[in-house]
Amino acid sequence: MNLLQIYLLVLTVILGLCVGSFLNVVIYRLPNDMKLWFPPSHCPTCNHKIKWYDNIPVISYIVLRGKCRVCGEKISARYPLVELLNMVLWLICLTVFTDIFIKSNTNDYVMFVVSCLACSCLICVLFCDLENMIIPDELQITLLCLGLASTFSDFVSTQSQVIGFFAGGGFFLLVYVISYAIKKKECLGFGDVKLFAVLGLLLGLGNIILVTLLASVFGAIILLILNKSKKEGANKEYPFAVFIVPAAIITLFVGQYIIAWYQSLFAFV
Ligand SMILES: [Zn+2]
Repeated sequence: MNLLQIYLLVLTVILGLCVGSFLNVVIYRLPNDMKLWFPPSHCPTCNHKIKWYDNIPVISYIVLRGKCRVCGEKISARYPLVELLNMVLWLICLTVFTDIFIKSNTNDYVMFVVSCLACSCLICVLFCDLENMIIPDELQITLLCLGLASTFSDFVSTQSQVIGFFAGGGFFLLVYVISYAIKKKECLGFGDVKLFAVLGLLLGLGNIILVTLLASVFGAIILLILNKSKKEGANKEYPFAVFIVPAAIITLFVGQYIIAWYQSLFAFV
């Protein structure tokens, strides 16, 4: 590892944690229509403004033992979790799209930056949908811009991305319209339709099909477990993005290998 690579690694870890800290603000404020930059971070219980030394990612949570310094109210474990998750995903992006850890000829810095930001955005999508059953349009527009930026990388062909946008969005729009016509209520959130369109643009046609399959499999398994353990929850609405986000992130990192493996199954037929 040369000096530049060490610098890149340290920068990824520190920035990953700091951006993760900002994501917590986004997850809390965006669905509640609050401004992102004002007021400064404060305890939601006692309104005390959080000092910079109590706002250091992960470390402050450990030092404060997960409690507000002034009123002692518990701080959600989601805060350090999101910070660590963002850092880990950024490190995986660094591994996949540059040759810093694994020697390869792929140094796609455009896709490295795009995928880091896309992962951060998807973390927000997951927690906003989980906690508020809503995917804010600001996040969808950010993903759309990242999809457009990724056309400058060699990740997938631009043609595949454009088809992915219309195929991903179109297929779920059809599912949305048909299910609405039959059941006379929303069975699939319109936010999910938009999410599939922007993910189709980011990942391309082959990958968005894989995301659809993986998300459906994850959803089926989790709902089966939930329905077995709790009978009355059978008719409850579930945030679909909770399954789409892991499926999209897995596909972003290893989708091409899964698709190649799947195609190889038919090589002997
Ligand atoms: Zn407090």
